[in-house]
Amino acid sequence: MDNALKYDILKSCCFSRARTGLMRLPHYTVETPIFMPVGTKGSVKSLLPEQLEKINCQIILGNTYHLGIRPGIELLKKSNGLHNFIGWNRAILTDSGGFQMVSLLKLAEIDEHGVNFQSPEDGSKCMLTPEKSIEIQNAIGADIIMQLDDVVPATLNDSNRMEEATYRTTRWLDRCIKTHKYPEKQNLFPIVQGGLDENLRKISTNLHLERKVNGYAIGGLSGGEAKDYFWKMVAISTNILPFNKPRYVMGIGFPVDLVICCALGADMFDCVFPTRTARFGCALISSGQINLKNNKYEFDFDPIDKNCSCSTCKTYSRAYLYQIVTVETVACNLLSVHNLTYLMELMKNIRNSIKINKFPDFVKEFMENMYPDKFYPQWCIDSLESVNIKL
Ligand SMILES: [Zn+2]
Repeated sequence: MDNALKYDILKSCCFSRARTGLMRLPHYTVETPIFMPVGTKGSVKSLLPEQLEKINCQIILGNTYHLGIRPGIELLKKSNGLHNFIGWNRAILTDSGGFQMVSLLKLAEIDEHGVNFQSPEDGSKCMLTPEKSIEIQNAIGADIIMQLDDVVPATLNDSNRMEEATYRTTRWLDRCIKTHKYPEKQNLFPIVQGGLDENLRKISTNLHLERKVNGYAIGGLSGGEAKDYFWKMVAISTNILPFNKPRYVMGIGFPVDLVICCALGADMFDCVFPTRTARFGCALISSGQINLKNNKYEFDFDPIDKNCSCSTCKTYSRAYLYQIVTVETVACNLLSVHNLTYLMELMKNIRNSIKINKFPDFVKEFMENMYPDKFYPQWCIDSLESVNIKL
């Protein structure tokens, strides 16, 4: 277990809980805080692995549920794991498949044994158990793998169900730990649950602390809950979790959320947002995002962002992108390159500002760009104030 992950924190912010470090994984050493693009079925939509490397992407995320169906365990084993199969030499993290059960499948039935659902491919009944999830993830061979958790939408107002899911998640964690075949080369992360209940979040975090693991995830958030709950749930866990282990907040990808979660002491994030919004013609910029389908870009010969160093901004105008977005498949690639570059740069700037002890200044400047009129959302003011950053 000890060799599969080594986490060195290089510098902590003197004001907030932000920190920057190096996470040494079997396939790559990842700089934290880090954003992980999502490659659902092994490929980040519309991007080549070499393009991802070029924009300094260090770790990508794959979906166990999808990869377990296609290409499936046998083929993954025969190709010596996903890294080999897709031609990606850097780090990979796989989720457990639990979230897809809940998000994709209305017919999912959950009991102590696992999740029973109808396959969207052929309608047949499938069972995903903690053991099955780990078996698939062992075949995939990702650097970091996730426990199967009992995911309940945070917005579900059912305290009994939430409590059941919280304790069951820890029971499933123990089954995952027991099944895991390669702890020397794959890191199994537990997932903190507990919905929007402060007490359950504390219980879940503390229960998972008792297990021998190399890092922790905070799950069940970013599902449409009020932001005021969201940041408090993240803060509760980052407060309790050990300082010297990486903390991963699942499903986070909006720039403001990333900056605030870093301030609260989180290190890793993933989301489909940058590549999904690219498919709808949206490009991320320092003041938010622009939609290139908008008529006002028809004769606009500037790049998406004059300060962006990505290959799209160096070569193509908004006017050209206006003509091809959502029509030509290449537009999806061009916008995804830009959007992911934006997030990679954002994370790099966060890391650098922590290194030189200027993280609070960075946050203020970032927020001013995002909200030029300075009407900051209350949850941003409150969450940052909780870690000594005054907007
Ligand atoms: Zn760009």
